[in-house]
Order: sequence, then C-alpha cells, then structure tokens
Amino acid sequence: MSNIMSIYYYYIDTTYYFYYTYNMLKKRKKGIVTIAFDDAYLATYKNAVRHLTKLKLGSTIAVAADLIGKTCEKRPVMSKINLKAAMHAGHEIASHGLAHANLRKLATKNKKASLMEISGSKKKLARIIGSPVTSFVFPYIEKNRTRALRLEARKYYKYIRITSKKPYFESATFMDPRELIGFAVRKRHSVKFLNRLVDYAAKEGFWIIEVFHLVGKRNTLSAHRKKSYRFFMHIKDFKKHLAHIRSKNIRVLTMRAAVKKLKI
Ligand SMILES: [Zn+2]
Repeated sequence: MSNIMSIYYYYIDTTYYFYYTYNMLKKRKKGIVTIAFDDAYLATYKNAVRHLTKLKLGSTIAVAADLIGKTCEKRPVMSKINLKAAMHAGHEIASHGLAHANLRKLATKNKKASLMEISGSKKKLARIIGSPVTSFVFPYIEKNRTRALRLEARKYYKYIRITSKKPYFESATFMDPRELIGFAVRKRHSVKFLNRLVDYAAKEGFWIIEVFHLVGKRNTLSAHRKKSYRFFMHIKDFKKHLAHIRSKNIRVLTMRAAVKKLKI
C-alpha cells in the first residue's frame, strides 16, 4: 500500500474511532431515573401508574403473586386486569415474592418456604400476566440479604433489587444487574429533596431507582404500628416531582430497560 493510502486509512480509522468513543461517552453520560412501585397498591395504580401511562412513561411494579386482587398490609392491591393493562402500556411487572413475607425471618423457620417465595412467585406471576418475569424485588428494607436467598434469586432472575433507606446511585460502569439498590421514598422526603437527587443523577450520568409505595390522595395507617404509613406520597407531590424529572436531560426507564440500555 502506498503511503498516501495508509494515511487515508489511518484518517478514516481514527475519525471513526473518535466518533465511536465520543458517542459511547455521551451515551453513558445521560442519567436514568427508574420509577418503581413496590406492593402494587390499587390507589397507586389509579393515581400514579395511569398518569405515567398517559405520559408514555414506564415504571417497574413489584407485586406479591398471592396478593393480586387482595390486600397487602391491609391496603387493596392491583387486580390481574390492572397488571395486564399496565404491562401492555409498557410498565414492567416484577415479582415481589408470593405473600410479601420477610424472607430472612421466614428462612430461619422454614428455609424451603423462603426459597419457594422466590422461585414459586416467578412461575405464578408469569402465569397470571401471561409473560415471562425477569425481575425480582426483595420485600422489606435491607433485611433479606442472606447468602442462600441471594443465590436462589440469582438462579431465577436477571434483575434483582433490594431497597435502601438511603439514596443510592448506580454507576453505569460498575453496575451488577442482580445487586441493584433502590431508594425508598417516604413521606418525610420533600419534593425539593427528591428533585435534587434527580439533578445529581442527571449531572453525573448516574442511575437512580426511586421506590414509591402508596401514591394517592390520602394516607392510611401503618399495618405494624399506630402511626400513619411512612411510605406514602401525595399524588400532587408525585406529579410535581415527575414534572421536574421531565424538565431534565434524564431518561425514565423501567429497571429491565435501564440495564439493557447501560450494557453497551
Ligand atoms: Zn414490599
């Protein structure tokens, strides 16, 4: 090859390489917000999920398979019809066990039953919604991290999440899709505070999973203590926060879609 030709090819190669890397970095730089709804409350569906659907945004809804159309901690849960409608509108349906048991506590009494919550719920939920289930969300806050339970979940699910009381950001480069951590939004968190977390994720190109429970017009009592439920957000505040998210240069993706997006 003549010298001129090799310079030409060198030029094409480096230019291509430059744009390729530039685009990769640019892609990774854009942050992601995942809106998660744990326990699939009916009030949350009517208020928040339907609102997202109207805006063509998806969320990840974690439901305990035995409680569909019944109650979870005394609050009505979405029906099979609600779940299927949400799924067809682009929301992801994740397993949240069978009976919303504290798996760690259950494991000390009945190990087999605790493992069944993980494997059995995948099968049962898939049958109900008529679609494979690839995500699992451990019930309760950071209480389920026994080795056996983690390994069991890893056998059956591609995407696994636990919930933390502290804000957590996933980095695109060091992300294990089966060790994801979501941030439990409580009524004590102001919209301003949540907006700041989103701003940070947008600025740094991080991924934040915001975990909501009851989103509606009025709160309920806690099932465990004589106090109002801590994991409540008023729909007005939720809509305000969502408007902020939409005003930012950040993507709103389900848990499954976010992992797929990040795995370049
Ligand atoms: Zn839950």
